[in-house]
Amino acid sequence: MEVVLSGIRPTGNLHLGNYFGAVRNFIKMQEENSCYFFIADYHSLTTHPTPADLHGNIRNVLAEFLATGLDPEKATLYVQSDLPETAELYLLLNMNAYIGELERCTSFKEKIRKHPENVNAGLLTYPTLMAADILLHRAHKVPVGKDQEQHLEMTRTFARRFNRMYNIEFFPEPQAYNFGEELVKVPGLDGSGKMGKSESEGNAIFLVDSPEIIRKKVMRAVSDAGPTEEGQAKTEAVENLFSLLKIMSKPETLAFFEDEYLNCRIRYGDLKKQLAEDIILFTSPIRERILEIRDDNEYLRKVTKMGAEKARESASKTIKEIREIIGISSF
Ligand code: AMP
Repeated sequence: MEVVLSGIRPTGNLHLGNYFGAVRNFIKMQEENSCYFFIADYHSLTTHPTPADLHGNIRNVLAEFLATGLDPEKATLYVQSDLPETAELYLLLNMNAYIGELERCTSFKEKIRKHPENVNAGLLTYPTLMAADILLHRAHKVPVGKDQEQHLEMTRTFARRFNRMYNIEFFPEPQAYNFGEELVKVPGLDGSGKMGKSESEGNAIFLVDSPEIIRKKVMRAVSDAGPTEEGQAKTEAVENLFSLLKIMSKPETLAFFEDEYLNCRIRYGDLKKQLAEDIILFTSPIRERILEIRDDNEYLRKVTKMGAEKARESASKTIKEIREIIGISSF
């Protein structure tokens, strides 16, 4: 069975883009692989969240992932900082990570450009921390977005370097998990581009949004003045609304509005009303579970304790072997 690992940043709430672009695949993956999903709280410290925000965000992310269907019995779901082994492997890998290669990292250069006032060592060594997360479980597959491909390449470099240095085939070289055709891009509501939490206000629909908020956001979505001749090409904003219908609504609903558009009879208000109701139908049960789980300390404690125990089984085994390989052996 392949070992698959993915980190989840504890920032903000999950939106429909996260669900259809990532979480839905995690739920399928957990059926067929040995999956490790962790909440990357160490990683998020580079931006200096307040203790209350950090803890609140971890609670939120945990509740949202559990509510969508990540199963702590099937997958290993843990908080990164619950594994002291993460910090140890990070330290050890840093000894063989060179400043030059870390500085050349695109995401690091991007961070310097955007936040010149906060160029800390944690940011520079973000790729070694990510490598530690992955190599700790000797993972084979990592589902990564385009922005993370370079980091994964660095993980392979660190793994190869370690293997070569100690002349041992210890770490497998992790590969990107490819979802192939299943990858969908969920558009946002502001008329251009994809749904994202840091886009304009009202662009994203969060799983935890109430029906009232969802209706308001969808009714305010950007459209256009409507087609004036038969078969007129759609503007990006309208194309986006149709893409959302395709993801959220029944095929016959999509076909109905396609037909209305083709014949220039379309009323975007009707389309949006239907879209909002179909989104609400999908998100409501998830939202109810999120609200329930978020306040259930006992359940969250149980899940994180179980996750940490399962994760530490593999992590402590890896660290024990690495220590011996490196020469940190007991007398
Ligand atoms: P983010 O919250 O932006 O870090 O996104 C986490 C993951 O969610 C990404 O790596 C993607 O796999 C997925 N994702 C985010 N936004 C979208 C979107 N609009 N459409 C499809 N997938 C998305």
